[in-house]
Amino acid sequence: MKIEMHVHTNEGSPCAETDAESIVKAYNKAGYDAIVITNHFDNNLLVHFGNTEKARIERYLLGYRKAKSVASENRIKVMLGIEIRLEPNEEDFLIYGIDEDFLFQNPDLCFMSQKELYELCHSYGAVLYQAHPFRTPCIPRDPDFLDGVEYNQRPNSGNNNKKLDTWLQSYPDLKRISGSDCHNLQQVGYGGIIIQETVNDSQELAEVLKQHPVKLIMNEHSTQ
Ligand SMILES: [Zn+2]
Ligand SMILES: [Zn+2]
Repeated sequence: MKIEMHVHTNEGSPCAETDAESIVKAYNKAGYDAIVITNHFDNNLLVHFGNTEKARIERYLLGYRKAKSVASENRIKVMLGIEIRLEPNEEDFLIYGIDEDFLFQNPDLCFMSQKELYELCHSYGAVLYQAHPFRTPCIPRDPDFLDGVEYNQRPNSGNNNKKLDTWLQSYPDLKRISGSDCHNLQQVGYGGIIIQETVNDSQELAEVLKQHPVKLIMNEHSTQ
């Protein structure tokens, strides 16, 4: 399967320009079998999403649910992930292996430490990756509480993936994924992973990430 691991929709991420249905269509056309919707789970956004925790999570899930609702007619699988920013830092983390209930049960994720988040993810069967660890102003966070790191493939985004290569030499046990960090139709399909297994949802994807090597889709412009 060819899977996009990092994509935003404008229902959930104000910085994204493209709606969920258009994103699903574009990824189908680009030959992907599945996409993980990873809208920003960022307290600065969530506070504007509603007055109660439940309302905020419902609003957060809008883009994922819209994408999911048009998935089958586009012959592509849509899975739930999140891109979370932990207060008060600038780094982003990608989580795979969760479902809607996880978010309703844990609406305060942004205020956890990295260790608390990592342990919570593992207790749920989920995995935690740091997104674009060398994109300014990000720095790599504690590798003891990461499953892996992302080779972000969005062109001209200052990802500094060469620095990531060097840093990873000291942490050979960390896993690697690739993602496009797609925010609009021009950013579709630069990254992702290829797996031999067939997965149907985020939990099954997390199991493959834990147990099997994945092939990374790399874009030559991503290091800029
Ligand atoms: Zn964004
Ligand atoms: Zn992103």
